Amino acid sequence: MADSRYRHGMEKILQAIMNGASGEELAAIPLPDTYRAAFVRKEDEHMWDGVASQDKDPRKSIHIGQVPLPEIAPDEVVIAVMASSINFNTVWSALFEPISTFGALARLGRESSWAKRHDLDYHIVGSDASGVVLRVGSAVRNWKPGDKITVHCNHVDDQDPSSHSDSMMGSNQRIWGYETNFGGLADLAVVKANQLMPKPAHLTWEEAAVNALCNSTSYRMLVSPNGANMKQGDVVLIWGASGGIGAYAVQYVLNGGGIPIGVVSSEEKEEILHEMGCEFVINRKKANYKFFKEDGSHDEKEWRRLGSDIRALVGEDPDIVFEHPGRSTFAASIYVVKKGGTVVTCAATSGFMMEFDNRHFWMRLKKLVGSHFANYKESYEANRLIQKGMIHPVMSQVFTLEEVGEASYQVHNNMHEGKLGVLCLAPEEGLGVDDHELRAKVGDKLNWFRR
Ligand code: NAP
Repeated sequence: MADSRYRHGMEKILQAIMNGASGEELAAIPLPDTYRAAFVRKEDEHMWDGVASQDKDPRKSIHIGQVPLPEIAPDEVVIAVMASSINFNTVWSALFEPISTFGALARLGRESSWAKRHDLDYHIVGSDASGVVLRVGSAVRNWKPGDKITVHCNHVDDQDPSSHSDSMMGSNQRIWGYETNFGGLADLAVVKANQLMPKPAHLTWEEAAVNALCNSTSYRMLVSPNGANMKQGDVVLIWGASGGIGAYAVQYVLNGGGIPIGVVSSEEKEEILHEMGCEFVINRKKANYKFFKEDGSHDEKEWRRLGSDIRALVGEDPDIVFEHPGRSTFAASIYVVKKGGTVVTCAATSGFMMEFDNRHFWMRLKKLVGSHFANYKESYEANRLIQKGMIHPVMSQVFTLEEVGEASYQVHNNMHEGKLGVLCLAPEEGLGVDDHELRAKVGDKLNWFRR
């Protein structure tokens, strides 16, 4: 076993997991002092100063190497990460944009002696994981070594009163692996016990690892009363409908009896959406919308053209627009949404300073909802739908941990579809399935995005 993941004492842990060892057996295997992880370095914080966003290259700022394993707090667990995934936040960390995440680690570090562990000169990135619990802190009640789990990324201070109606409202709520250290793109990870969810038994490690962040985000945006609270028959315009969050959004609209209109930028992506059962698709490249004129001002004519295209497809305006590209589409989204309808947004990939024509907004009594990830309950409900085979992973490719830079580069440059899985401790694809019957029942839907 020459592979670096098997050095430093990880081989026994991997063999035990592969052989189906009991929780007691796993708990008896010593943990290594160091483990393999993908990280960015504080010393590189300014490496992209003066470089245009599109020219920044995550392959140069993401490093793979050994890092020390921290001690766990009473409410935390150590997990063996079998697989993880690339999220856009890993791209943001690698670009040090719009902010360097080392600022977030420093702020977290000031909160308590346990939190101080996070304030390091390296940041282990990654906000998704599937794996196995190896150790639990003294205050952990519901999980034990040997449990097969997935991890959601909502890092909550449960001693803060503001966290207790909706933990996303917590004044110091953070995203694990983005605003905290010890993230999921690694062979081991440290997470709070209240981030754990049962691994869907019909999925491989890598299929199970790609869902939690994007699936939970889309669930809150569309299904939850905290988001757009979609109802049967709603027409939903979904930007980036074959991307990470968009591909789960399409499934939620179809499952909930709504009518999705997916916007994508290639014929291949159009095909994927049709295969998923999304009848109405707009190819934005073919349509060649130019929402901005040469001089940078908005072109209302083009918003109207998008609106006409939507009406030509479904006969009415969208009740909901699922918005995340931001600057490039936001004004059009506000314009095309139905009178009284809702634009729900969780991001601004193309730019966060956005303008829209307020006359169309107030005169037509529209609503704008800001949404960010999901609380534990929302994440758990979204995970349950995956467990039941009602929502499916949208994984298109699988990379090794050594290839995290390349995978992030592909996401940064919109070269991918759906989600990109990453094998961490799992030595190959296809492992980890326990419920073969449900897997057979779900069938080809697991391969919608595989290319
Ligand atoms: P993704 O996999 O890259 O998908 C985004 C899709 O948006 C792309 O596939 C692309 O589709 C479309 N797109 C990109 N630029 C566009 C533009 N200028 N105009 C129209 N469409 C454009 O990313 P993702 O994982 O879905 O994440 C999308 C955004 O949401 C990111 O900014 C991410 O950071 C954010 N996010 C936020 C949260 C949260 O909790 N707040 C959670 C998850 C993600 P086509 O080229 O096919 O149109």
